[in-house]
Amino acid sequence: MPIFCCEETINEFETLTRDAGRVQQDTLKKILKVNADAEYLKHFGLNGRTDVQSYKSCIPLCVHSDLEPYIQRIADGDSSPQLTGKPITSLSLSSGTTQGKPKFVPFNDELIENTLQINHTSYAFRNREYPIGKGKALQFIYSSKQVVTKGGILITTATTNLYRGPRYKEGMKDIQTQCCSPDEVVFGSDFQQSLYCHFLYGLIYSDEIYQVFSTFAHSLVRAFQTFEEVWEDLCVDVRDGVLSEKITVPSIREAVAKILKPNPELAESIHKKCMGLNNWYGVIPALWPNAKYVYGIMTGSMEPYLKKLRHYAGHLPLISADYGASEGWVGANINPTLPPEEVVYCVLPQTGYFEFIPLEKPKAEEMENSASIHYIESDPVGLTEVNIGKIYEVVLTTFGGLYRYRLGDVVKVVGFHNSTPELKFVCRRSLVLSINIDKNTEKDLQLAVEEAGKLLEPEELEIVDFTSSMEKSSDPGRYVIYWELSSDASEDVLGSCANCMDLAFVDGGYVGSRKVGSIGPLELRILKKGTFKEILHHFLGLGGNVSQFKTPRFVNPLNIKVLEILSRNTTKSYFSTAYGL
Ligand code: AMP
Repeated sequence: MPIFCCEETINEFETLTRDAGRVQQDTLKKILKVNADAEYLKHFGLNGRTDVQSYKSCIPLCVHSDLEPYIQRIADGDSSPQLTGKPITSLSLSSGTTQGKPKFVPFNDELIENTLQINHTSYAFRNREYPIGKGKALQFIYSSKQVVTKGGILITTATTNLYRGPRYKEGMKDIQTQCCSPDEVVFGSDFQQSLYCHFLYGLIYSDEIYQVFSTFAHSLVRAFQTFEEVWEDLCVDVRDGVLSEKITVPSIREAVAKILKPNPELAESIHKKCMGLNNWYGVIPALWPNAKYVYGIMTGSMEPYLKKLRHYAGHLPLISADYGASEGWVGANINPTLPPEEVVYCVLPQTGYFEFIPLEKPKAEEMENSASIHYIESDPVGLTEVNIGKIYEVVLTTFGGLYRYRLGDVVKVVGFHNSTPELKFVCRRSLVLSINIDKNTEKDLQLAVEEAGKLLEPEELEIVDFTSSMEKSSDPGRYVIYWELSSDASEDVLGSCANCMDLAFVDGGYVGSRKVGSIGPLELRILKKGTFKEILHHFLGLGGNVSQFKTPRFVNPLNIKVLEILSRNTTKSYFSTAYGL
């Protein structure tokens, strides 16, 4: 196995991205060659051809539902080539937080190799700016349930599929500070207990921790919110060398017993540091003085957690991790010094074949006649054919058996690194609030919530988390936005917040409809503390993984269970009077 070398990795990346167009053709060729026997490709008459033109003319764009019959056959144990030449032995469960229904996608060894390529690349660039050597990392990583279908196929989340295999561990060994907690904690059956023990290991090895990580920023914030509640218990455990009785998973208890010894000095020092903090500002560098940065995906639906994360991180830089999905990888963050709000992702042309569907917002007058579309689409273009300043939907062809698969993410091309594009993540395409001709995305909702959130600042209140739904059971329908707050706010302020959000949706369709009353006043519903924790637990119960959890920003009417949780926990409601209706 070659030893990892940052400079070599960067050089290889530069070479590949200089010639991205050719690398793309070669990559497509490789994918189509190894999968030539796949039923899916045969069905569309590709007949073993591997050139871009034949591929695009034979194989249509697809969405997940087009693949479901193939994936079902794989799950049932049909080992004939369905989507890939080699039989698929495991499936990944994508988070599916929007629809409330997780999706299954194929997982194979090639996806592990892609993950390593992308992780090696971003690490090489990161390590050039913030060299950290091979200490330890406090990683909030978890595994999820692993289920074997009747057909003998393993189903679990993509992150668990990665962590469970030796190849990933081996490949990461050279490049990364190692997780300070053992597998028993990562693979523990109860995420709250694993979280507690991640902290315990982190505190025991506090001087050796160089990095604090979680896949998504949400779980970093969730972790430190829990720390605020359990830090004193952790101090007692460290002081006495005895693990709290709250930790009941036998394998975790056994593992912890091996390293936990009474350490009153360390306990005293942790206690003193925590007591000295002002509202937990800078807790990460205070307790882990050698940490160089905090790392995890921080863009897209994670942006709302940045404020809180910055608070915990104090002076430490926040570095956003790479951009990918259970379906496959899209790009690496090779500019680690950029603040998360400005992060761009560079596409690695050897990890898949990429196409981009050009999207344009329709003009206001066109919107009147096209209630069902939010964007006007043109024919997909190749990786090197995209234009700076334009927005696109990402289409993937992967080594994992997805062909011209619409990922459903909207990205903006903001530049090129050599000849490969740099993408800014814009939003999920499917997440729209829409009553009639209005169309608002996840990003529009986020901006509206941020705007109204400013009104809470003088009261030193924070929005812990938020989501939305549409109320169409009465006429006219309306937007409902749900907030969980850090503490109680005054009636006046919350009334103003409802007005502020109503005015913050500036899409022509919404404003017009509000003015004529065909959309009713926006409703702000305030939730009991802990509601989003309950929603998280609900998703974990469906087989989801905390590491991949994304709070659903819009709750679909079919997602009855989450709507029930929201409705049961609503304590107050405020209707906007912004449009005087
Ligand atoms: P899942 O496969 O369930 O983990 O979800 C994948 C989705 O998470 C992607 O399609 C994106 O919408 C989102 N995502 C992943 N990485 C990033 C990132 N770096 N920035 C923003 N969104 C991301």
